[in-house]
Amino acid sequence: KALKTIKEGKAEICLKTEKVFYNPVQEFNRDLSIAVLSIFTDDYKAEKLTRAEKKISNRQNNTEGTNEVNEVPVTILEALSATGLRSIRYAKEVPNITKIVANDLSEQAVQTIRENIVSNNVQSIVETSHDDACMLMYKHKHPMKRFAAIDLDPYGCPSMFLDSAVQSVQDGGLLLVTATDMAVLAGNSPETCYCKYGAVSLKTKCCHEMALRILLQCIEQHANRYSRYIVPLLSISADFYIRVFVKIYSGAFHCKKTTSKLSMVYQCVGCDNITLQPLGGFKPNPTEKNPEQMKAYLPTVPPVSEFCVHCNQRHHLGGPIWSAPIHDEVFVSRVLSHVQDNPQLFGTGKRIEGVLSMVREELQEVPLYYTLDKLFGRVHLETMPMLVMRSAILNAGYKVSYSHASKLSIKTAAPAQVIWDIIRTW
Ligand code: SAM
Repeated sequence: KALKTIKEGKAEICLKTEKVFYNPVQEFNRDLSIAVLSIFTDDYKAEKLTRAEKKISNRQNNTEGTNEVNEVPVTILEALSATGLRSIRYAKEVPNITKIVANDLSEQAVQTIRENIVSNNVQSIVETSHDDACMLMYKHKHPMKRFAAIDLDPYGCPSMFLDSAVQSVQDGGLLLVTATDMAVLAGNSPETCYCKYGAVSLKTKCCHEMALRILLQCIEQHANRYSRYIVPLLSISADFYIRVFVKIYSGAFHCKKTTSKLSMVYQCVGCDNITLQPLGGFKPNPTEKNPEQMKAYLPTVPPVSEFCVHCNQRHHLGGPIWSAPIHDEVFVSRVLSHVQDNPQLFGTGKRIEGVLSMVREELQEVPLYYTLDKLFGRVHLETMPMLVMRSAILNAGYKVSYSHASKLSIKTAAPAQVIWDIIRTW
C-alpha cells in the first residue's frame, strides 16, 4: 500500500515506507542535474562520434567501424539512488542516455526502485543494482566498463566514494557530487574537515565558496592518484548543500599543473582579511621548442607576513583549496539557455535561471569574496548600500561581481587596501 505518491518532472514514484530516503527540497538539485546532463550528453556523444570517425578515416578498410559511429553508449550510474526518482527522471528527461544503473545498499530502497521503474515504464533504460557503491564502481574501473557519468548524492560527506568514482568515469566523463555536511566544510570543525577532505576549513564570510573549493581540491587529489584530473563545469552552493559537476580526464602531464590550481588560505583573526598563497606555478619552459610543454615550479613568493598588514593581528591557516575557476562560462550559458528554452521541463526552472545568471557573471579569476555586512561589522559602522560599494570599486578601476553563494558578496580583485580606503570614506 502506498504511503505517498510523488510527482516530480516526468516521473511519478510511490513510497511504501519512511525508511527509504526522499527529500522534496532536492528537486532543485535534480532539475539542475537534468539540465547539466542534457548538455553534457550531447557533447559527450558528439566527441565520441568525432573520435570514432577519425579512427575510421585512419583505417584503410572502414567497414569495421560503421557500428562504432552509430552507437555511442551513454551509461549513467546513480550510485546512491534511494527511491530511484533521480534515475527515472534522467531516463525520461535527459536525451541520449542508453543505460542507467540505479544502485543502493538498502534492500528496501532497491525494492522501491524496482517497483518505480516498472510503474514508470523505463525498464528498457534503468536497471537496479543492490551493492555497496564503492564495490560496484571498482567493478567498473576498467576503461571498457566505465560510465559516461556517475552521480554521487550521499548523506553528508561524499569523500569515501571518490577513490572508486574517479576511476570509473570515462575519459571526458562527468562526475556529479553532492556534499551536505556543511558545518564541517564551513569551518565549524576544521580538524574533521581535514580528515574527510584533506583540507582545513575556516569560519569565514565566504565559507560557502570555500566549501566548494575544498570539495574540488579533494576530487582533484583523488583523481591525480590515477593520473587523472578534473575540469569543473559548474559548482553550486544551495540550501543546505553544495553540488559540483566536474569532467574527468586522463593525463599524467596535466596532473603536474595541479599545484598551480591550489592555494593555502591565510585569514586574519582581526579584520578577517584573506590572503591566498599558491602551492605551485606553471610557466613556459624555454628549453622546450613546443610552447605547450610548460614547466612546473615551486613559487618563491614571500611567506604571508606574520602580522596582518591592515590590523596587525595574526592569521589562521586553512586549505588547500581549489583556486582555479570553478565554472566553465560557455557550458553554464548553454545550460541556462536550455532551461530558458524549455521552461515546462523544470519545476524549479525560475530558480535555476536566477542562480545560473549569477554564476555566469561571477569573476572567474577571483577566488572567494568579501561580504558587505562582515566588512562593516568589523569596524562597527552602518553598512554602506551595495550599489555605492560596487560603484566605488568600479571607480577605483577594478571589476566587481556577486557570488551566487551569498547575496551580500563582493567579488573583486581590488586589493584589501582599496576596500578599507572605500570604507574609511563612508
Ligand atoms: N539520490 C537520492 C535522491 O535524489 O533522492 C537520494 C540518496 S540518499 C541521500 C542516500 C542513499 O544512499 C540512501 O538511500 C542509502 O541507503 C544509500 N547508501 C548509503 N551508503 C551506501 C553505500 N555504501 N552504497 C550504496 N548506497 C548507500
